[in-house]
Amino acid sequence: MPDKRENVVVFPFMAQGHIIPFLALALHIERTTNYKITFINTPLNISKLRSSLPPATSIHLLEIPFNSSDYGLPPNTENCDAVPYSLVVRLLEASASLRPVFKRLVEGIIEEQGGERPLCIIGDIFFGWMASVAEELGVFHAVFSGAGGFGLACYYSIWLNLPHIEIKDDDDHFSLPDFHEASEIELSQLPLTMSEANGRDSWSVFHRKYLPEWTKSSGILFNTVEGFDRTGLSYFERNLNKPVWPVGPILLPIENRARTSKEGELICKDWLDSKPETSVLFVSFGSMNTISSSQMMELAKALESSNKNFIWVVRPPIGFDINSDFKADEWLPKGFKKRITESKQGLLVHKWAPQLDILSHKSTSAFLSHCGWNSVLESLSHGVPLLGWPMAAEQFFNVKLLAETIGVCVEVARGKSCDIKHEDVAAKIETVMSDCEKGKEVKKKACEVREMIRNAMTENGSSVKAMDEFFEAAKKTMRSGTGSKRH
Ligand code: UDP
Repeated sequence: MPDKRENVVVFPFMAQGHIIPFLALALHIERTTNYKITFINTPLNISKLRSSLPPATSIHLLEIPFNSSDYGLPPNTENCDAVPYSLVVRLLEASASLRPVFKRLVEGIIEEQGGERPLCIIGDIFFGWMASVAEELGVFHAVFSGAGGFGLACYYSIWLNLPHIEIKDDDDHFSLPDFHEASEIELSQLPLTMSEANGRDSWSVFHRKYLPEWTKSSGILFNTVEGFDRTGLSYFERNLNKPVWPVGPILLPIENRARTSKEGELICKDWLDSKPETSVLFVSFGSMNTISSSQMMELAKALESSNKNFIWVVRPPIGFDINSDFKADEWLPKGFKKRITESKQGLLVHKWAPQLDILSHKSTSAFLSHCGWNSVLESLSHGVPLLGWPMAAEQFFNVKLLAETIGVCVEVARGKSCDIKHEDVAAKIETVMSDCEKGKEVKKKACEVREMIRNAMTENGSSVKAMDEFFEAAKKTMRSGTGSKRH
């Protein structure tokens, strides 16, 4: 007997920064509705998910066949965290070829459900092609953006407009013709590949090709909060003429996250327990990015000379094998690890730390982050102000919003190739972690945003209402019998 509950199909791009919010969304839908959820991804990602999902979940994990070697990627490459950043675009391009297989999978789901189409397909911002598959199958389709409204609006507008914007040799900024609210975009805020090729780099070419397909979609779910991200949301309402549903922050519960070793987690917890309240700086640049060797040396000196306690998630610097063992002697100043370990000033964690545990710990005071949107939401949900060091993608615009408009962040550096001076970084750490006027201000704002977030997630809060409205829209369309074909 087919399970007659309505099906929600979700399929994120294969990167932790996408899988994590999609899984969080799936678990959230499971907890708050009676829909049946099918979560699609490549075999290796699915097998990892199997071990981290709660035993009681009824989320159906479905493998989509994928062979990375067919696309010139190293064997068994099914997630961005396993390849250097330069190869991520190849994984993007490879994922576009999953279109026919994805369509067959959804047809299989329809068959299993006795001909009943899913209530909706929720696709990734990188999978514009999914909207037309949904349209062909007559299923309601929405994009789920793990990126915030403002960051994505800047990024989207730059993808579409940059090649046509005239930038003179002595210009250091430009404006976006369809997003005046973003004011000036500085050239140093563009990811390096984009600025070098003036928007004709392979990332931008990929996005210019697939983003317009969004127009076939019925709207965008955003993992963000209306209260602090209205400008970016309005951009999409205005330019795509589609509804947006700000439903965030939807965060993956600690128990469902990819685990470091249990031992590693305990080490972090014990270490934090031994420190005074709000005395620790957490330093981490997400699941994909890393900094240059010289930046790493300067950052180490800055942390040590700041005299602040810190936990630093260290990934191999650019140029080193991403899967390399920890090499403190090669990556860090001489004697650094020994000194900060003996003095108990710092804890170095190799590659992956239990970020949410750390951010929710009372000893944590600030987060030096690349400002990937998940990290931003996780930090602000706990009232932790940020020191922003954007490295790629829309992170530069996240920092712009956080520092210039919301006031919860101080920018430390930009990009993976800029020169940084340890004295400057140490001074900014001091600003955010001390009781100077600016330090007090960012901490106060971060606490206000934490309250805004809590309110958004209460029964009549903006995010809860937006989620209800999304499902109402899907039901209305599907029960009228036309699915995406209506749009
Ligand atoms: N993350 C983690 N431990 C780490 C690094 C990252 O748990 O050591 C998680 C982090 O909590 C967040 C996600 O990985 O949920 C990273 O997403 P984000 O959007 O911040 O950055 P990305 O990795 O996509 O650049």
